[in-house]
Amino acid sequence: MSTFKALRIDKDDAGYRAAITQFDDADLMEGDVTVRVTHSTVNYKDGLAITGKSPVVRRFPMISGIDFAGVVESSQHAEFKPGDQVILNGWGVGETHLGGHAQRARVKGDWLVPLPAGLSAAQAMSIGTAGYTAMLALMALERFGAKPADGPAIVTGAAGGVGSVAIALLSRAGWHVIASSGRPQEKDYLHHLGASEIIERAELSAPGRPLGKERWAAGVDCVGSHTLANVLAQTKTHGAIAACGLAQGMDLPATVAPFILRGVSLLGIDSVMCPKVKRLEAWNRLAHELDHAKLAEITTTISFDEVPETARAILEGHVRGRVVVEIA
Ligand code: NDP
Repeated sequence: MSTFKALRIDKDDAGYRAAITQFDDADLMEGDVTVRVTHSTVNYKDGLAITGKSPVVRRFPMISGIDFAGVVESSQHAEFKPGDQVILNGWGVGETHLGGHAQRARVKGDWLVPLPAGLSAAQAMSIGTAGYTAMLALMALERFGAKPADGPAIVTGAAGGVGSVAIALLSRAGWHVIASSGRPQEKDYLHHLGASEIIERAELSAPGRPLGKERWAAGVDCVGSHTLANVLAQTKTHGAIAACGLAQGMDLPATVAPFILRGVSLLGIDSVMCPKVKRLEAWNRLAHELDHAKLAEITTTISFDEVPETARAILEGHVRGRVVVEIA
């Protein structure tokens, strides 16, 4: 029986724990493609899974890691053959299906996306679920019909993974980007990514009024709770906000005033069960529309052994931009 290195999460009478260990091949779950994982990442959700702070893991033992990039080792799926480079995001991987913080993964071929031409596996994981979610948010705003001439775009949770990529994508698309961040020390970083203005996180995070001064026409919200309520209350007439995150909280203590008095739209972003056709579009656009030099600047590369401490750091808001885990 062969084994491979993995970050295994267990929950039993001894409690909830995560540790890097050897995992038996025979214990891999069902799937028609086996992948040698070369790179993964640490997302906010991985932080929740590894620390057990929120019940995102729904099967034990679990291997953490909601996304990975790697090379197909074996395949019974018509679209993939050994040697193909692939990416996976979501579909419950790292939550209900064994995840990407492992040297090997077995998954459904239908979940895989070919690595787009022009991106390395490391770059794909530098983008990761966070960057792909930022692109889904931009695509949602575009589908809605939002355009830079309508006014500025706000990005909350700006120095985080989704926020950083959202700023880069929106500014490249011509938007005047207002970044909301709780980290004043990241001012230069945010300007360099493409933010034109930076506002203090505290301006939006406390309970606010149902409607405020109209400040932005569009936005990407990574934070939820009072922040999203205030973002909506300050959105221009007939503007739209793409909501993807809950870093402040899952609640939305808002009123209907922005919707019924200003025609504001709230666009929901789900990366996990997003249909394949939209994933392919998002990844192909990311390969072409994200400045590779900027991508390198937002990325910190860590070893497999550093994943547990990085998981704790991301929940404490200490991780800037994106993290790539070298698995191979
Ligand atoms: P990060 O931890 O990298 O970024 C989150 C950012 O939110 C932080 O960097 C910080 O930004 C800000 N933040 C943290 N805590 C608070 C707080 N208490 N109040 C206000 N702002 C806060 O996470 P990601 O960028 O990877 O993910 C962002 C969110 O999006 C998460 O909630 C994640 O679960 C969600 N997500 C959802 C997806 C989907 O499919 N819908 C997919 C991917 C992510 P700053 O320091 O600049 O203020």
